[in-house]
Amino acid sequence: DNIKVGWNLENTYTNLPELMYTVINVNPVSNPKLVILNGALATSLGLDPKALENRQGIEELAGNRTIEGGIPLAQAYAGHQFGHFNMLGDGRALLLGEHIKPSGELVDIQLKGSGRTPYSRGGDGRAGLGPMLREYIISESMHALGIPTTRSLSVVTTGEDIMRETVGPGAVMTRIASSHLRVGTFQFAAKWGSINDLKDLADYAIERHYPILLDKENRYLLLLQEVIEHQAALIAKWQLVGFIHGVMNTDNMTISSETIDYGPCAFMDTYDSKTVFSSIDTHGRYAYENQPNIAAWNLARLAESLLPLIHEDQEEAVKLATEKIGAFPEKYETYWLTGMGNKLGIFNIEEEDIPLIDNLLQLMEKYRADYTNTFRLMTLDKLEETVLFGKKDFDQWYEKWLARLEKQDVSKEFIQQLMQKSNPAVIPRNHRVEEAIEAAVNNQDYSVLKSLLKVISKPYDYSSDHMDYTSLPPDTSRPYKTFCGT
Ligand code: AMP
Ligand code: MG
Ligand code: MG
Repeated sequence: DNIKVGWNLENTYTNLPELMYTVINVNPVSNPKLVILNGALATSLGLDPKALENRQGIEELAGNRTIEGGIPLAQAYAGHQFGHFNMLGDGRALLLGEHIKPSGELVDIQLKGSGRTPYSRGGDGRAGLGPMLREYIISESMHALGIPTTRSLSVVTTGEDIMRETVGPGAVMTRIASSHLRVGTFQFAAKWGSINDLKDLADYAIERHYPILLDKENRYLLLLQEVIEHQAALIAKWQLVGFIHGVMNTDNMTISSETIDYGPCAFMDTYDSKTVFSSIDTHGRYAYENQPNIAAWNLARLAESLLPLIHEDQEEAVKLATEKIGAFPEKYETYWLTGMGNKLGIFNIEEEDIPLIDNLLQLMEKYRADYTNTFRLMTLDKLEETVLFGKKDFDQWYEKWLARLEKQDVSKEFIQQLMQKSNPAVIPRNHRVEEAIEAAVNNQDYSVLKSLLKVISKPYDYSSDHMDYTSLPPDTSRPYKTFCGT
């Protein structure tokens, strides 16, 4: 109750076995300037936005000066990248410590783009302003949409240019997360640590995310079960808003089940279940329709890593873990079905309604309908503005939908309310995101960014001043491609 305003850092990660991290001397940058500060987030963390904006605050957010109580470290982890196992680790990020929020919960404070670490391999340890703003925009949007995510507290430019496809301004982002524990963190401990190291890590994860399990028998199996449950819920939320992560490597999947690592991600516009945005995902491993399967695959890697803790008898451990992993598809399906029901204004959705949903998605794919706008216009009862309008097969579907709505004993108003809170009017459309980044990077004009952030912070607001942000890009800008080279 007596928590002071300002940083309140602990260093719980340094209690883990030493192989899990490396303490780092920070690499100062020449001329840090604050580009954007997330005032609302700062306040909710018990920080004073004003104090973050002064000289000392900016030096801290740039990594030039260590926040009081912080011990900067790079976390070790491994991961399957596009199916291939690699040793990874924070190559351009530093964990400063865990900040105690007013609620008493801990959150990781991480700098991203803060310079080289022992895990950098060939990389420069730096980040570009464009990609950091992209992460800021999309993670804020996800948060506003009600989707668990890491968040961005600030972006500062470093005063130093970095080399990518072109030369551009370097930046450091401060990322806030329930933790940065990843499936890959467990893979690392399982591969290179002792069973006690693995146990310490698992207990640490339980303490931070599922403390209720601490005194349960077989808490490690229950940890796996919790992660499976929360990831099923998370991925369903992605699918429901048309979010494509783009690089669902096991090092980019958190134990907290917050969305992390906004590299080549994007929101789908035209509905196509095979959509891929990432320029490096040439085989479509991380396509929209594959996300639930990939999540299950990644969770199986987590399960494998936990096997030594699950049961002394490894055959028994495999049996127990397999059973948990096997439950993922049904859990996912249940979350998804409930969510789709809500999007269609159906309160009492049932398995028998699946064909109705599938049929709509097929029609959207056939007529290349915009995913977000179709649901938005259905919500507004303005189907005449969609490309589906007047199509015979769609008319037939529409009749079935109306008949289905009538089978529930609720008013039209209630249905409309449910639909409105389940169908975002605005998502960060790719051309809008690009436009905001370009103005910031090329002209130091942050007004476009700020207008966009304002609108996406209220995605379920159907008032007309947001409607500019619902329009599609000119056809020439498609197909949209995103890049990992950040
Ligand atoms: P990601 O694709 O963002 O999940 O990153 C995969 C790995 O590459 C992680 O270990 C990152 O820390 C590392 N990495 C990405 N960009 C850089 C960079 N510019 N310098 C050093 N390491 C990097
Ligand atoms: Mg990553
Ligand atoms: Mg990344």
